[in-house]
Amino acid sequence: MQCKPWIRLPGDSASKRIGYGAAALLLTAVAYAVLGCPMRLLTGLPCPGCGMTRAWLSVLRLDFAAAFAFHPLWPLPLLLVVCWFTVRRRSAAAFRLCLGAAGLLLVIVFVIRLSRQDPIVALHPEDGLIIRALHICGLV
Ligand SMILES: [Zn+2]
Repeated sequence: MQCKPWIRLPGDSASKRIGYGAAALLLTAVAYAVLGCPMRLLTGLPCPGCGMTRAWLSVLRLDFAAAFAFHPLWPLPLLLVVCWFTVRRRSAAAFRLCLGAAGLLLVIVFVIRLSRQDPIVALHPEDGLIIRALHICGLV
């Protein structure tokens, strides 16, 4: 079963779609490198992906112990890319199942990390921009 693309881009072709995807990944990586996690920036609270960027930077240095310490599911994005190119071509439903399983796994591991008080996912709402803005306005 062939999947329909999510959006149609000008001059849509497989190589251009890969180029757009690579550009989106690069922009996201730069934004994360400059700003860090957007949820943590705004709320001071971690998200299930917190530590993933640092984990992948550790992988690039071939420091796999540090990668697992920053985020135990660091291989997950790579597995999803493999699923994108393999499972999705055969079955959109199976690919959605993979995405759902990955999301569920992220949430389960996030809860475990929170319960173990992993410093990567420490809660610091006072550091979030929202609380700081409310504090500056005298609302908290
Ligand atoms: Zn995060």
